[in-house]
Amino acid sequence: MFKSKNKSKIYLSPPHLSGNEMQYIQEAINTNWIAPLGPNVDAFENEIARYVGATEAVAVSSGTAAIHLALSLLDVKKGDTVFCSTLTFVASANPILYQGAEPVFIDSEPETWNMSPEALETAFREADYLGKLPKAVIVVNLYGQSAKMDEILSICNHYDVPIIEDAAESLGSSYKEKPSGSFGKFGVFSFNGNKIITTSGGGMLVSDDAVAIKKARFLATQSRDQAPHYQHSEIGYNYRMSNILAGIGRGQLKVLEERVMAKRIIFSKYYQALSHIRGIHFMPELENTRSNRWLTTLIIDEEAAGVSSSDLLQYLAEENIEARPVWKPLHLQPLFDGAKYYHHQDRDVAEQLFTNGLCLPSGSNISVEEMTRVVECLKRALKPKVYTIHPIGINEVQNNDREKYI
Ligand SMILES: *Cc1c(COP(=O)(O)O)cnc(C)c1O
Repeated sequence: MFKSKNKSKIYLSPPHLSGNEMQYIQEAINTNWIAPLGPNVDAFENEIARYVGATEAVAVSSGTAAIHLALSLLDVKKGDTVFCSTLTFVASANPILYQGAEPVFIDSEPETWNMSPEALETAFREADYLGKLPKAVIVVNLYGQSAKMDEILSICNHYDVPIIEDAAESLGSSYKEKPSGSFGKFGVFSFNGNKIITTSGGGMLVSDDAVAIKKARFLATQSRDQAPHYQHSEIGYNYRMSNILAGIGRGQLKVLEERVMAKRIIFSKYYQALSHIRGIHFMPELENTRSNRWLTTLIIDEEAAGVSSSDLLQYLAEENIEARPVWKPLHLQPLFDGAKYYHHQDRDVAEQLFTNGLCLPSGSNISVEEMTRVVECLKRALKPKVYTIHPIGINEVQNNDREKYI
């Protein structure tokens, strides 16, 4: 048994402070603007809006809250349906349930791993035929890669249904040089601890619709009417971001471009070290897009590689290395049992990606030594089988190394 529990843990995507954060936090403390709201919140909203080229932004307590507000602004309610990418984190679709609406899941396509325009078109045609178009389409940009926005926009515009772009994982990415998160009626970002930049927890809703963002601010602050006393005429939420956390966000935003560069370098190092191995296929980058490569992700063809993605997860875990499977498609989640789902052509792409996918440690602060440990571990596990010529035929020699390794 090869034990390595004494080796330090390598995390999937831990927070990475820039050193700029304290200045903004200190300012907040010195001026007693620690909560709620305050100048850091206003500035962070303006800075994100400017960065993504949106006219308006509202800082909130999480990416999930931002999606919830977007659905609420689009008047999604009981009896409505919302189309949503199936290959994503549950947070993309949970707010559909908060509103009592029904999600309909759309499969991925192989070039971006994101929403298949063909499956989307089929879903729309059927919904149109039944006279029940969705109230919104939630399009996710997985692991930093933009979905095929031209095709998706053209379909949604044809049916006049607004897009909520879940860019929680893709801040800093672009599609045809236009920033990720700026394509839909609403764009959503997350500053959760594992995202490319973090406020320790937080989110942002962006839009060019000033009236909608003003309403979002109102809803996120308990829907307090203009009155000298506390008066409320509609349901509200406590979703605003604190001035301290916005300070962390401002410090982080300053180094976003560096973080994207670091993540892209991490991807290319993994690619150089492993892409030649049989059965290994890295997540593609669609032409004319730039992914922030939030997580380096690949699929393993078990037959060609001789090991499965779950085997590799196991090997990595033994080495105290945190890797993850690709998101489990939402149409396969018990939570969404019975939800409608449209697959890509005659395949289930998202399901295949889930079965064979693997996310590698991709923290922008990962060291060369740590990357080497990950690569060496994978290389040992993926060592090609050795074949020997036997008098009566070709026999496969078991890879003993691999057994020793676990
Ligand atoms: C992280 C994430 C969210 C939710 O963001 P939180 O800030 O954690 O609420 C939503 N969608 C996707 C695709 C995510 O990865």
